[in-house]
Amino acid sequence: MTRPLAVAGLWIGAAALVVACAPSRLDSRSGGDGSHAGVVTKEAQAAMTPSQVFADLRAGNARFVDGNLTNYDFSAQVRATASGQFPKAVVLSCLDSRVPPEIIFDQGIGDIFVGRVAGNFENVDMLGSMEFATAAAGSKLIVILGHSACGAVKGAADGVELGNLTVMLDNFDSALATAKRTTSGPYNAGNTAYVDAAIEANVRQTMADVLSRSSVIKDQVDAGKVMVVGGVYDLATGRVSWIDA
Ligand SMILES: [Zn+2]
Repeated sequence: MTRPLAVAGLWIGAAALVVACAPSRLDSRSGGDGSHAGVVTKEAQAAMTPSQVFADLRAGNARFVDGNLTNYDFSAQVRATASGQFPKAVVLSCLDSRVPPEIIFDQGIGDIFVGRVAGNFENVDMLGSMEFATAAAGSKLIVILGHSACGAVKGAADGVELGNLTVMLDNFDSALATAKRTTSGPYNAGNTAYVDAAIEANVRQTMADVLSRSSVIKDQVDAGKVMVVGGVYDLATGRVSWIDA
């Protein structure tokens, strides 16, 4: 999936690729051909602060938007991570095929945990996964990532009923109610302002729920070991707009 952009990057020349690999990355190490073969080590992960990891992902999204993706040596990264992983962050994102977190944050193998469910809401399984990622595996940042024109939120806005989806869409009731207080009708999926407000409200709700429903995560946040951030990815531009950042 990265090929078109990676090819575009090659046109810039080897010097640009070395730059893409080097200064903005926390775990920068380049192969002889300018490819990025490094992975996050236990020591590197331990040395990172939550703010540094957040800056790293923001820089990665900027590279993605600019068509300046890192030239990862995935085979080398597979070999380097076979015996362990020390990811920097855990991202909870939507199922949507157009929002692959590793690509839009320009991350390699072993860099980030990713949990995905339509509409990027938390539940006990996602909370347990985020607790593992942070308290057990050492990740420093939790990212709740929504996106524009989210089909799950739009489906909830229209009251779609289909098998198990009917119950799943109940997860967005609170976000839809919040959006109704700040936008005017009609309250359906065709109202972009309403849907946009619900998408942001859903990210904010999920951020709050993570802290209120997981004492494991709340304690790490209070101790400054972990940070919870939220953003909304724009399908048209590839850019993530961060909430309260
Ligand atoms: Zn979605």
